[in-house]
Amino acid sequence: MTPLAALLIQRIREGGPITVADYMAECLLHPTHGYYTTREPFGTAGDFTTAPEISQMFGELFGLALAQAWVDQGAPAPFTLAELGPGRGTLMADILRATRAVPGFHAAARVVLVEASPRLRTVQQATLAPFAVTLTWADTVDALPDAPLFLIANEFLDALPIRQFQRGPDGWRERLVGLADGALSFGLSDLLPQVPDTPAFQTAPAGAIVEDCAQARHAVAALMARITRHGGLAYLVDYGDWRSRGDTLQALRAHAFDPPLAHPGEADLTAHVDFEPLAALAPAHAFDSQGAVLNRLGIAARAARLAQNLTGAALESHLAAHRRLTDPQEMGSLFKVLALTRANAPLPPGFAP
Ligand code: SAH
Repeated sequence: MTPLAALLIQRIREGGPITVADYMAECLLHPTHGYYTTREPFGTAGDFTTAPEISQMFGELFGLALAQAWVDQGAPAPFTLAELGPGRGTLMADILRATRAVPGFHAAARVVLVEASPRLRTVQQATLAPFAVTLTWADTVDALPDAPLFLIANEFLDALPIRQFQRGPDGWRERLVGLADGALSFGLSDLLPQVPDTPAFQTAPAGAIVEDCAQARHAVAALMARITRHGGLAYLVDYGDWRSRGDTLQALRAHAFDPPLAHPGEADLTAHVDFEPLAALAPAHAFDSQGAVLNRLGIAARAARLAQNLTGAALESHLAAHRRLTDPQEMGSLFKVLALTRANAPLPPGFAP
């Protein structure tokens, strides 16, 4: 049993079952036993590999896309260049390297990283030390400056706690984490007087599980408040669907799926992102697969250019990385990009009408 499992069992004994969201929040960000507060999750030695860790091309192309949108919007200065959940800082480093030659971009940028884990902040600081930019950290999106906002988040929304609801013959109940034979176990609440009035809930068939991520909606609303007032663009990249599809809570440990209640605090815990209710918060949005967006941003040309300097195993792994990011059988179609702008803004780079 993990140390966090012991604490949670104690808490449930005393206070009763907890929501899936409470469980997720404790597993990921508990101050002493949380996954992101204590562990090094990324890369082959960790539990999962993310797009910016697969290839520099991911950050380069999104960096140039953000810079293009900044130029298209009249190069506002100063502006916030932000990332949500920057992990090791690899994506922001690639963005900054790729945009060095964009006149005025770095001078006008105030880089803000929204990161909850003190440990990962230290890693990000070391990764980004070589860049001569103003760099600050924020605990939540609410602390982002009131200024034009050009933002990216990769695999951030999937880490935000979700609640799960199940439609039974007699109405809706919430899925809870309680105890069975002294171990953590899923159960159901009493009947709920009401559930959110969204398309996912309205159209769910009997027996279906619907997920709801209040923190994701709150985050997008906070971004949109700034973008609506001052301009900007947000790219939200994650795996998920336009509309929630059942139970998507999953744990990953050492690159393999793990039962979500098996190793609290020692496995990554995520849920697929339900994009429709997030897009609904923006006056204008564009949505497509990661593969389609990277192709439109010119990944083929960039990959060919990088390949010219590579041979042997390095070339093989570069070609595999290109395929992994774009191929529909790999990350290309499982991962989606939601771009958020204010009303009447031009279509963001990477999207087609
Ligand atoms: N974007 C990076 C890392 C993804 S992992 C990449 O693509 O490699 C998720 C990141 O979000 C981690 O940095 C984690 O510490 C951070 N995070 C998770 N929940 C958070 C929260 N509620 N608030 C702020 N940061 C959070």
